[in-house]
Amino acid sequence: MASDSLRLISGAGAKGPACFVLETAGKRIMLDLGEGPPPGALPDVDGLGPLDALVLSHGHKDHIGGLALLQKLGNPPVYATDIVARDLPQGIEVRPLPVGGTGDLLGINVTTGRNGHAPGGVWLHFKIGGGFLYTGDWSTESILYAYDPPAKPAAVALVDCSYGTYEKTLGECWGAIAPYVDRGPLLLPAPANGRGPELALEILRYGHTDIFLDDATTKALRQLVSDNASLRAEADDDMKALMVSAKPIVRPRGIMVAASADGTSGATKQFLEQWEHNTEPAIVFTGYRAPNTPADRLIKSGRAQFLRWNVHPRLSDVVALAQAVKPKTIIAAFCDRAQLLGLAEALAPARVTMDGPVVL
Ligand SMILES: [Zn+2]
Repeated sequence: MASDSLRLISGAGAKGPACFVLETAGKRIMLDLGEGPPPGALPDVDGLGPLDALVLSHGHKDHIGGLALLQKLGNPPVYATDIVARDLPQGIEVRPLPVGGTGDLLGINVTTGRNGHAPGGVWLHFKIGGGFLYTGDWSTESILYAYDPPAKPAAVALVDCSYGTYEKTLGECWGAIAPYVDRGPLLLPAPANGRGPELALEILRYGHTDIFLDDATTKALRQLVSDNASLRAEADDDMKALMVSAKPIVRPRGIMVAASADGTSGATKQFLEQWEHNTEPAIVFTGYRAPNTPADRLIKSGRAQFLRWNVHPRLSDVVALAQAVKPKTIIAAFCDRAQLLGLAEALAPARVTMDGPVVL
């Protein structure tokens, strides 16, 4: 029997665009095809040749931003959940992926569940060999996005370990951000299809009603309420209340949430250009800080702060996942190689690696 394998094209050994290729039963299935961080960084797909399918775990740029490369890969069909498919470029042959449940993907039994990280975001379990799990990005802590813990055994697990051995709770994150919310005015740059609506929800629950959102975050909020498949049930009513009370950003006041997360595009880019040399509003970045971005520059100059808002798993979350699915091999993705030793110690007896190809 030919052995199944996983090629780590990009996303293991360093923070970078997600791109992996699963080779099983004569089929070649790409898992995610991202761009960045940093902006413009694309996976090297030269020489890969035609693929049978691309599967998208969620709609963030570092997982779907490389779709222009599909031409080089024989334009395979793209599997995505409805919510992720909605924002894909025209002309792509999209096939449905459930937000949760078990189905068939090119003859392979695949189970998905919500990843607690983004609208329409899923992890995937492939029933091949001793089982293979791809988490994509995931979080157990989101107050907005529902998380369905994977439970099926997986001999090999490709796991988002973006935060390495980091262990602070979301409550501690909020404890650091709340004083800035109390002081105001404050700009919180965040992705509209991720942390943005979640931060707005936390601010509302904290008791603040002077919340201002850019167009992209407002649109995302509306979509989350109209298609609530990815939401935690208890967030539904508060999200509706937020939609009623949040106002557009016209000048620096109150608590403002705007895309993009690092200021390279969207309303945040314009606001930073207008407000960079003013003393107000305070600016707090909460996500990954890629080099050569406005976020990086403003944090270095002292004009803005970095205070993380967890959207990836803590070490204890990764340990709990490993205890549930019992992998023999864990491929630690989306973090630096410097985290390998700490992860390996915490996840023993599983073997932790960042090098491929991995036999499944
Ligand atoms: Zn993501």
